Amino acid sequence: MEVVTRIAPSPTGDPHVGTAYIGLFNYVFARRHGGRFIFRLEDTDRQRYQAGAEARILEMFAWLGLRPDESPEAGGPNGPYRQSERLAVYHAHVEELLASGRAYRAFETAEEIEAMRLEQKRLNKPIGYDGRGRDLPPAEQARRHAAGEPNVVRLITTDEGSTTFRDRLRGDVTIPNSEIRDPVLMKSDGYPTYHLANVVDDHLMGVTHVIRAEEWVTSTPIHVLLYRAFDWDLPEFIHMPLLRNPDRSKVSKRKLDTSVDSYRQQGFLPEALLNFLANMGWSMPDGREYFGMKDMTAEFDIDRVSLGGPVFDLKKLRSFNAKYLRDILPLEEVAGRVKPLLEDEGYDCSDEDYLLDVVDVLRPRAETLVELVDQAGYFFRETLRYDESARKQLASGQTFLQDIERELSMLEFFDYDGVDDMLRDYVQEQAVPMGKVLMPLRAALTGTTNAPGVTDLIVILGKRESLARIGKALTFIDAGLPDDDPHRLLEEEKARKAAAEEARKSRVKSVGAPPAAPATGGKGSR
Ligand code: GLU
Repeated sequence: MEVVTRIAPSPTGDPHVGTAYIGLFNYVFARRHGGRFIFRLEDTDRQRYQAGAEARILEMFAWLGLRPDESPEAGGPNGPYRQSERLAVYHAHVEELLASGRAYRAFETAEEIEAMRLEQKRLNKPIGYDGRGRDLPPAEQARRHAAGEPNVVRLITTDEGSTTFRDRLRGDVTIPNSEIRDPVLMKSDGYPTYHLANVVDDHLMGVTHVIRAEEWVTSTPIHVLLYRAFDWDLPEFIHMPLLRNPDRSKVSKRKLDTSVDSYRQQGFLPEALLNFLANMGWSMPDGREYFGMKDMTAEFDIDRVSLGGPVFDLKKLRSFNAKYLRDILPLEEVAGRVKPLLEDEGYDCSDEDYLLDVVDVLRPRAETLVELVDQAGYFFRETLRYDESARKQLASGQTFLQDIERELSMLEFFDYDGVDDMLRDYVQEQAVPMGKVLMPLRAALTGTTNAPGVTDLIVILGKRESLARIGKALTFIDAGLPDDDPHRLLEEEKARKAAAEEARKSRVKSVGAPPAAPATGGKGSR
């Protein structure tokens, strides 16, 4: 039997890390067993519906490289894949249940339901629908429905006994039937409830394994009753442990950033996010923490999912991201992803080798792409701005800068070793601590003291540019370290914005979407 899994998000907000997490396990399980992975939009809650959310969720899956085999975008033999476009299907199935006497139309108003609830509360009885509409003869139900009277369709359930289903990870889960009180299948607005649409679609789409979050465990007995009412075979149920906030409560946007878009904007890498999520509740048989989707698929065993609530630890995610940025992704790959961000800042990235050098030296110093870009300014800006710490260094470093300017201009072999030897020899001659020389030099070359090694900087910037920068710093010192000219800064800002706009335009024309392939990645090549 072909394995079919699905992710069934509701378009109610930002693409959620929980959707990515559950999607990942459905995707990998399907791939592992050579099956299919379906994306179905559960958009029957019209009150919580958000226009644009569907596109963003699909975009998230594309970015993560978890491409569904069937979806509203990709199409497929089981469409349509938006529940709002399947209303006729649900109506037909509800009619079937009405005809077989397993469901009925109930006509209570919202006020009546509320009064019932208050009464139950007053009498200290369990809250829930008491089945009062069941006794209305079917013909009468049909007549009032035909006359346009608002109603809902409810499933007939019994209070006696209990309902049990088997969860692959949890074993038998049993709920007393008294807790299931004639659940609504079709709402008065003509839209199905989650329960009905979910079960009908899973059945019609041939879903064999329902892998979803733990929060749906309590809904599953209702689904089981529905499968029985339709006389359908049950799929296998697998409820994944919920992601937790650091305080162990269910992951929520009040306590944690849950938007995948937000992580993406902050410069997190899809490979790192996936690898991080894969470690939530699952582990590789050999215990290795870093792995790509290919390896995960090859080794995947759903029975190794552990149920202890995995904590979404942002520090850990950052360290995963840093690891991918620094070691796992090849340099060229990282550069390719940084480039558009740099261009958005108005920096000219046309020199590929220069870009590679810059990314190479900065990636050990950043945990996200955005942090890398934030540090890269001095490699691309025409004029440096000297920050407070740089000014301090320059104030005391004039002699060293003059000496190094001379030494560097005379340097014959301009390569890493040549520059490094020159600096070392000079420091030794002067008999001063390394930092005394290197800090002002770093300040002169970058305008800041938080920057990579000086030798790296000089080699990347090149002899001419390095000398030019040292020269400018000396002029700046001679002028008494004047404050920045606000007018000049504004002009520069404008020029960079214009360049960024240009770059954006040409990117849209030439490339289209950003790369999204899930690389398993070898060791960086440089
Ligand atoms: N629409 C539900 C959700 O938003 C789907 C739950 C399920 O997978 O059954 O998570």
